[in-house]
This record gives sequence, structure tokens and C-alpha cells, in this order.
Amino acid sequence: MNSLAEDIKQQVESEISSCRNCKKCLLACPLPESKGIDIFHLNREILSERPTHAMLDFAFLCYSCGACNDSCSEHLRRDLHMAYLRSKGRLPKGFTNLLHWRGRSLGPIDKVLYSLKRIKDRPVDSIARHLDKTEFKDTDLLFYFACYAYSPSNIPEKTLGIADHLGLDYDVIAGYSHCCGWPHFLAGDFDRAEPLFIDLFNTITNTTAKTVVTGCAECYKALKFIRDRYAGSFKVLTTTEWITAHQKKLKLTKSTEPITFHDSCQLSRLEDKADVPRALVKKMASLVEMEANRRETRCCGGMRAGHEPERLNILRQNRLTEAKSTGAKMMVTECITCYEKYHPHAKDIKVRDLSELVYDRLKK
Ligand code: SF4
Ligand code: SF4
Repeated sequence: MNSLAEDIKQQVESEISSCRNCKKCLLACPLPESKGIDIFHLNREILSERPTHAMLDFAFLCYSCGACNDSCSEHLRRDLHMAYLRSKGRLPKGFTNLLHWRGRSLGPIDKVLYSLKRIKDRPVDSIARHLDKTEFKDTDLLFYFACYAYSPSNIPEKTLGIADHLGLDYDVIAGYSHCCGWPHFLAGDFDRAEPLFIDLFNTITNTTAKTVVTGCAECYKALKFIRDRYAGSFKVLTTTEWITAHQKKLKLTKSTEPITFHDSCQLSRLEDKADVPRALVKKMASLVEMEANRRETRCCGGMRAGHEPERLNILRQNRLTEAKSTGAKMMVTECITCYEKYHPHAKDIKVRDLSELVYDRLKK
């Protein structure tokens, strides 16, 4: 098998050779900088060993939102081309928080820093007992929380609360040592992503699990990629899909309050899953749509981490303004990355994750 970096290189080179240079991808891109880019120049730079600083700057502004892919009649993965371009540049400092302390092979300083994090940000006991463990019980169902076990939200806890309410048997993969590698992949650091992919694949396939459930859209993409690349057979579900599969056994309280839903780029646009969360929201509230919805959603910018934070803050505040303009008092997300990017900016509107809403609306 080729290395991941070699496979990505071959895929990108092959795709660029099929590009029709129509520029629809750049016209669909939400970044204003995209409008000044010549498509022939972009394609040349993607293939170049030494792309210009200007093109690398553009690549690091990219959100990995996939709006470009969705507009391409040739089904080319322009978001992957951008990750490949990033692999040739020096990662801006703003990405550091998204990439450090991940995996099992940490240097001595990272080991100490991660130990401190485990103490400082220790989750509740029901989650903490799963952190970084390597032994799993025999069960069909695994929840994959990885880094979001440390989420300041109580989304992991409430997800397990739903499973307990249903009386299900399960185990949990949690902690930075089980990172999915997707942040590294999207950052273009394929050499660091690959061992994380392999470790996670081995961890899952060494269990008896048939289904892996995650509440992070990026983890979902990673789990599917890893399963397909290394020929696994486990099923990957979003938390929303998993809840929906058990919906008949869940008695949910319905109110008339208007709630709006923020689509994740990865799930609603690139995986065509926009109907599943909507059906669930409608069981609990009256759904009001934002103008930019479903495949046309706006990206939360989560995968750009802290690079150019002021622009990211404006992006998030604008989305919340759009949510408020619907008359909704709550914006619901189904990806923890989206949730964590919007929640700190929420004023005059609540931001909740769909799993939290379901848990709170359970007739217990
Ligand atoms: S992934 Fe999104 S931000 Fe990046 S180039 Fe494509 S449309 Fe633009
Ligand atoms: S939309 Fe597709 S075919 Fe057209 S320029 Fe972009 S990548 Fe090439």
C-alpha cells in the first residue's frame, strides 16, 4: 500500500488533469479572496513543488467547507486540492491548538502538557473513566468521543444518558490519544495523520463493535475514510442517525417554540444528510429555516482553528444574526465542532446540540 501522502498526491494530480477550468468552484467559495484567483494559476500552483506565498495564504484561509466540490460538474475534490496545497506550506500558528497532544506517541513536553489538561479539564466521572483507555468490553456499540470528551458542553454525557435510557450496552473511545487524525489531514500534514488513522483503525477493529457512533462531523468523515482505506467493516453513524434508529422507543416532549437548525458542511452538504436532523427537530419543536440551509449552509470555520480569529468571529456572529432573524430562540447543531464555535458567541439566542435537546426532552 502507498503512503497516505503518495495516494493523495496521485489523486490530486489525476483530478487536476480532468479539471475543465470552468471556475465554478471558486465562484461558489465563500472566501472573498477566491474571486481574484485565476483558475489556471491555481491549478499550476497546486501541482508546483514550491507554490507562491500568496497561494499558500489562500490555502490556509480555506475552511474545508466543500462548497467548491458541490459546484463541480466533474465531481472533483477541490477541498482535497487545498489540503494538498497546505501540505507544501508552513502551518500558521493559529492551527496549533487543533493539532497538539494528539495520538499515542507524544514527546516528553507534550506528555506533561496533556497530563495537565487531563487534570485541569477533567470531564465528569461517567466520561473521565473512559479517557485514553485501551481495553474495551465485548459489545456491538462504540461511542467515539476522542478529543470532544473534554468538551465544556455536556454533549458526551447526555449522549450516554440517551443510551442508558434505552438500556443499551456500549463502550466509549475517548481522549486525545485516540485522535481521528482528521485535523492533521485537513491541515495537509498527511504524515502525522496516517499513524493516527492506523492506530484508530486498529483500536476499533480489535473490539467486537459493529457500529461506531460520533457526534462530530469531522470525526464522522475520518471514521468512514479510515474504514474504507484499511478495509474495515464497521458501520459509522452520526449521533443523530443513531438516535433516529431508536426513535420509536424514545418518548419526546414537543413544544411549539420555533427552533432553527444549523447544517454542518460535512454532513448536510457533503454527505447529503440534511433530512435526518430536521425530522428529529420536528418531533420536539417547530422548525424555522435560515436562508442558508441544507447544502447551501454557511461554514462555522472550525477546521481553520484559530487562524485569523477576528474574521472567524465575524463569520460566526453573522450566522447567529441570521439564526435570530428567523424568530427562533434556539439554534440547534448536530456537530460538536459547530456547537463549540457558535456557543461562545450566542447572545439573545441559545445554541444547543441535538443530542442535548433530545436528552432534555425525554419523558423519563
Ligand atoms: S473548501 Fe470552502 S473555503 Fe475552501 S476553497 Fe472550497 S469553497 Fe473555498
Ligand atoms: S468546478 Fe471542477 S472542473 Fe470547474 S474549475 Fe473547479 S475543479 Fe475544475
